Amino acid sequence: MKLLRNSFLFAICALMFLACATASVKGEKAVAQGSDDGSMTAEEIAYINNPEERHLLQNNVEKDNEILRKVSIPAKLGAEGYDVLENYMKEAIGTGVGIAAPQVGINRRLIMVQRFDKEGKPFEFYYNAVIKEKRGEKVVGWEGCLSIPAGYGQVERWQDIDVEYDVMNGDKLERKVERIQGFTAVIFQHETDHLNGILFIDIKTADPLMTAEEYREMRMKEKAEKEAQEKKDE
Ligand SMILES: [Zn+2]
Repeated sequence: MKLLRNSFLFAICALMFLACATASVKGEKAVAQGSDDGSMTAEEIAYINNPEERHLLQNNVEKDNEILRKVSIPAKLGAEGYDVLENYMKEAIGTGVGIAAPQVGINRRLIMVQRFDKEGKPFEFYYNAVIKEKRGEKVVGWEGCLSIPAGYGQVERWQDIDVEYDVMNGDKLERKVERIQGFTAVIFQHETDHLNGILFIDIKTADPLMTAEEYREMRMKEKAEKEAQEKKDE
């Protein structure tokens, strides 16, 4: 997910309004099931280790889009190749606030999320994350995506969710459920959608996308207006 980091609070304050009842989720797909235990194949390991092949996928490239549209299969915390994958995701995220493994060409259920709800706003990895509970109302906010160069759009998201994911307890994998709220909850929804082949453009409001340039201008204007107002209030 791509958003100007320091503008997220303002984005939420300024652009949030209670969503009307258009709750249908377009294009929702079933999670891939199977005997796969999450270990990467030799082919996946070779790909992620190859700097000439691995790249940040873009939805306007046909081959990339095919991968972005696939339902990802399980990931395995601690298995071979995942350290390299995590490092490459850290590199590929740039100024973004979240990224999913399919965005770098690996259809595995691994996401990286910036935790705006934690001190120091750390980036953290989550294996096989699933959204279990959604509470309250959906709120509309601006979103961009590292894999969608066309621009930014507005998406309705839950602000209060439970996320279940894998954690290591000693040498055993366990599932943990965590309640997450606000902008961090929005990032979790955007990134877990990627694991199901869903992009924000599938579920955004009907308005056309705003280009990156237009979006930046809008944000700068909002920031200037806010600062002018704050000066006036002093
Ligand atoms: Zn994205």
